[in-house]
Amino acid sequence: MTEATGIVGEFLSLKAETDADILAMQCGDFYEFFADDAELVADELDLKLSKKSSHGSSYPMAGVPLADLTPYLKALVERGYRVAVADQYETDSGHAREIVRVVTPGTLLETTDADAQYLAAVVDGDAIGANDGTAFGLAFADVTTGRFLVTDAADADDALTELYRFDPVEVLPGPDARANDELLNTLRERTDATLTLHDTEAFAPKRADHAVGDHFGRETVDRLAVGEATIAAAGAILEYVDETGAGVLASMTRIQAHQGDDHVTLDATTQRNLELTETMQGERDGSLFQTIDHTETSAGGRLLKEWLQRPRRSLEVLERRQESVAALSSAALARDEIQDQLGEAYDLARLASKASHGSADARDLRAAAETLGVLPALAETIASSPDLAESPLSEIIDRPDREAASELRETLEEAITDDPPSTVTQGELFQRGYDPDLDAVIDQHEEVKEWLDSLADREKRQYSLSHVTVDRNKTDGYYIQVGKSAADGVPDHYEQIKTLKNSKRFTTDELEDKEREILRLEEQRGELEYELFEELREEVASRAELLQDVGRALATIDALSSLASHAAENRWTKPDLHRGDELRLEQGRHPVVEQTTEFVPNDVQMDEDRGFLVVTGPNMSGKSTYMRQVAGIVLLAQIGSFVPAKEAEIGLVDGIFTRVGALDELAQGRSTFMVEMSELSNILHAATEESLVILDEVGRGTATYDGISIAWAATEYLHNEVQAKTLFATHYHELTGLADSLPRVANVHVAADERDGDVTFLRTVRDGPTDRSYGIHVADLAGVPDPVVERSRDVLERLREEKAIEAKGGGSSEPVQAVFDLGSGQFSGAASADGGQSAGESETDGDDAETIDPEAKAVLEDLETLEVNTTPPIELVSKVQKLQQRLEDGDN
Ligand code: ADP
Ligand code: MG
Repeated sequence: MTEATGIVGEFLSLKAETDADILAMQCGDFYEFFADDAELVADELDLKLSKKSSHGSSYPMAGVPLADLTPYLKALVERGYRVAVADQYETDSGHAREIVRVVTPGTLLETTDADAQYLAAVVDGDAIGANDGTAFGLAFADVTTGRFLVTDAADADDALTELYRFDPVEVLPGPDARANDELLNTLRERTDATLTLHDTEAFAPKRADHAVGDHFGRETVDRLAVGEATIAAAGAILEYVDETGAGVLASMTRIQAHQGDDHVTLDATTQRNLELTETMQGERDGSLFQTIDHTETSAGGRLLKEWLQRPRRSLEVLERRQESVAALSSAALARDEIQDQLGEAYDLARLASKASHGSADARDLRAAAETLGVLPALAETIASSPDLAESPLSEIIDRPDREAASELRETLEEAITDDPPSTVTQGELFQRGYDPDLDAVIDQHEEVKEWLDSLADREKRQYSLSHVTVDRNKTDGYYIQVGKSAADGVPDHYEQIKTLKNSKRFTTDELEDKEREILRLEEQRGELEYELFEELREEVASRAELLQDVGRALATIDALSSLASHAAENRWTKPDLHRGDELRLEQGRHPVVEQTTEFVPNDVQMDEDRGFLVVTGPNMSGKSTYMRQVAGIVLLAQIGSFVPAKEAEIGLVDGIFTRVGALDELAQGRSTFMVEMSELSNILHAATEESLVILDEVGRGTATYDGISIAWAATEYLHNEVQAKTLFATHYHELTGLADSLPRVANVHVAADERDGDVTFLRTVRDGPTDRSYGIHVADLAGVPDPVVERSRDVLERLREEKAIEAKGGGSSEPVQAVFDLGSGQFSGAASADGGQSAGESETDGDDAETIDPEAKAVLEDLETLEVNTTPPIELVSKVQKLQQRLEDGDN
């Protein structure tokens, strides 16, 4: 292949400089793509391909007009490409081109999506040689709003939880993290983020520390008290944003540490199970966020979502939010007014970013001025409502520097016209009186315009012409157009320039002079206004922090008003929050399901003596809904929201953990039994005494006996060791027996009524275990032939009897599994429990130890020394399985 020269050669050598996927190179009024890039872009964006020859070869070429680049960039970046943009600039010897920016998913400023757009970096502490013990460091930056957050993570799971929570669009894995296939795969599966392998040097601890210290100030960084790995992540992001040329570093005014202590742990699975921001099917509709979101502004929506994803533990913080919500929900009129006023507000954080980047236009600045004006209006509304005035809202609205805000607003209002154009290079942006030089140019400009506007009338009068108009176009410039009938009567100094069907066009020396003058003035005005505009925009950019403060205050009031509206419209109540164990809901409802269903409210009572509820009931009776309702209510309470209940007392939790049995999830193709077990294992490790644990049909993804065994052991572990507040729904009736041996376990069941051959689901939760399974009944209803139904009743009856014998060696009703009678610490019934086939034939009556064979005896001894309470459940199960295997082998 021959070396390309000329424009293609320049393109290819610029392309070789960048690691971007695609290069867009300015050529005059177009951005052009060549060679492979042209083909790719043409394919992705339906552009027309043409050819460019260079040095005897022909290259594919595609292009877009300068002004249209943004939507194409956006489309390419949203498809996951990184696009380098090379601009053309004038030099003494012609022009040259240079890459000015690399647009990536995490540095795209031109977003129209209201959601946060996080760029994340994740660094493994060990690998960078951090000696402060931070396992993982994470940083998140939203270039569209300037938000910059950092946090330490205790391990890889923790890191993933944070990543899942922020749902970044682009992730920069540190040098080591990119070798961690498991982390990367999970990231690919769980998020839509683009993974970018940024220069490893940028993650070097010293260099990163410098970068962060320089940008945010040394003192701030020290005060953050985060690990070295975390600073490395933050530094890498700063460098990346700088290098990609997004030009928004100035809007990143503040770095905040999000330490876990004050936040409720919500692992990725739980966020998904509770359908916080999207349903299990991946829809936004029907999520908890979508249900409670009545915010007026996109910034308010972003904040409310953030609250949901990061519930709090601080009683003070929550009670303050509650006070505001309470005040707003009772002051309905003032709330309406506030929401109206917020309707006028634009996204100030985004405006600040655009100003820093230099892409804000005059309309943006005008919008900023109007939004700054919302602040005093809101303050006024709050002050004039006694309820609101006494609430924390007064303090929220006073947080930003109100005086500085009103000065900036005045500056902008005095500068920008009421309805400026969207182009910033062609004038008409500024008000009269803003700048004397500009005023002089405008005066002259207006004068000439005036002269031109009145020319047609003057000519008509002076030369008695009819049908005269004065206009301009690109080819003819300014001209006097005279109708055909009158064209013969034009004065001599008229110079004809064109003949049309019904008219002729003329010019005069004077008109040509004026034309030159007006073009000169237009250019002068455009340039001057642009200069002034850039100054003004820089001034606005320098006030990024103020804009962010005001934006934050407005967003907070928006989010609180949204919570208040929802509470008022749905009769939610303010929960009593406390630091104790009690969780009491009177007539609680499910926050989402109640929107679409005639919901049957249910009570919940959990406390020190009743910390573990086994929830039983037939299929489809409402077990899952009941438990999710409890988790949802606790979560809402911990963002400061009211909750769907008649009365609520809620002990704050430090984490919410949920796990849905593999069978339910398998049906949706989401999970395997292995995943179910590893998540169970996570919960058993991570939950504490102050956590809320929801287990829904755990153990269901495997054979019955396996399943029961795991469920049983997990229950004991949670009850004895973890002591978390737990709700466990199960269709294993056997588990209801746990209430007899474990003091804090209580049974509740979802009632169903069977009358005249119909099962009615009452959806009412009552104390005590469910008395039976309705499976056979459903089979009957479904038309399964009578003999089969009869026979299955027989079989069920026999199985029940046998199990009773197997467990206790007598007619006792306590349905305890032979293998896992861990309550008494004894192995009752040596018969294999696996499948239970041998149980019926077994002669063993349980107390005849003499007849046990030696292998079984050895098994018994091993079992006796097995540390039930300290062995992790999964290991326990596998140990017990091995014991069973030995028994079986011994039998044969
Ligand atoms: P289970 O987990 O016991 O199989 P689900 O919780 O999945 O049952 O509930 C089954 C159906 O009943 C769902 O469609 C749910 O919306 C509805 N449901 C559950 N609880 C209630 C309730 N308290 N009031 C009204 N409908 C309910
Ligand atoms: Mg269920």
